[in-house]
Amino acid sequence: MNIRELATNKPHLADAAALYERIEDFLKKADALKYMPAEADASYDKQTAEKIITLFSETLCIPMENISPLREAVVVGTVDFRRLPLNEVPAFASPWHEDELYAMLYIIGRPFLRWKAEASGYEKTTWDNGRCSVCGSNPSFAVMKKEDKKTLVCSFCGSTGTWRRIGCPSCMEIDGSKIDIIEAENEEGIRLELCNTCNSYIKAADEELVSASTADVADLMSLPLDIIAQQKGFSRNSPNPLGLRNIA
Ligand SMILES: [Zn+2]
Ligand SMILES: [Zn+2]
Repeated sequence: MNIRELATNKPHLADAAALYERIEDFLKKADALKYMPAEADASYDKQTAEKIITLFSETLCIPMENISPLREAVVVGTVDFRRLPLNEVPAFASPWHEDELYAMLYIIGRPFLRWKAEASGYEKTTWDNGRCSVCGSNPSFAVMKKEDKKTLVCSFCGSTGTWRRIGCPSCMEIDGSKIDIIEAENEEGIRLELCNTCNSYIKAADEELVSASTADVADLMSLPLDIIAQQKGFSRNSPNPLGLRNIA
C-alpha cells in the first residue's frame, strides 16, 4: 500500500496521509542535495541548510515568513540535529509549542541524520541495548519475522538492528509477563507491545506488511494503535513519520 492508497482505504487517516505525502515529497527532493557530513558535523552546512529550509517551506506549503525563527536557527547552525534522537529539543526563541517545534525539526533533520548514518558506514546487526547504534534513538517501531528476533527500526536515521523477540527495548525488561501484547480489530499484521515496567510501548509489524509498503507507511496506517496505547497511559519514545510522539 502506498500513501495514496492509504488515504483511500482508510479514510480516517486521510489527513495524516495527506501530510505524509508532502513529507515524502520533501524527503525525496532533499535526497538530491545529499552530501556526506563529517563525523563531527552537528548540522547541515550553511548552503545546504538554506536549500533544505526552502524545500521544507515549499513542499509542506508553509510560507517562509511563518518559519523565520526556525530558518534562522537551522541556517546559523544553533540546532544540533544529533540531539533530536535523544529527545532533546534545541532551545531557541520560537513561537511554537515544544511538540510542534520538535515535529518540524524532526522532518527537517531527517535527511541529515540519514546521510550521517550512511557516511559513518557503521553497520551493527544487533542493538544490544535496544537503542539505535548509529544515532542513539529509542525506537518505537519493529518488524517481526516469523519465529525470529525483531528488527528495530530507527525513525531518525533509518538504521535497523535486531533485538530480542520478547521484551521492551526502552528499559530492557525481558520478563514477558510484564509486556502486554494487544492486537486490534482492523489492524491486521501489526500489534502493540506495552511495557508495564517503564510505561512505554512499541508497535511490531509483520514483515509482509512492511515489505508491501514501507516502515513509515506501516507506522502511519496503524495510528489508531498509538491512540489506544496512549489512552492507556503508555508513551511513545520516538516520533512517527509526522514527527509526533504525543498522539492521543
Ligand atoms: Zn538512528
Ligand atoms: Zn520498558
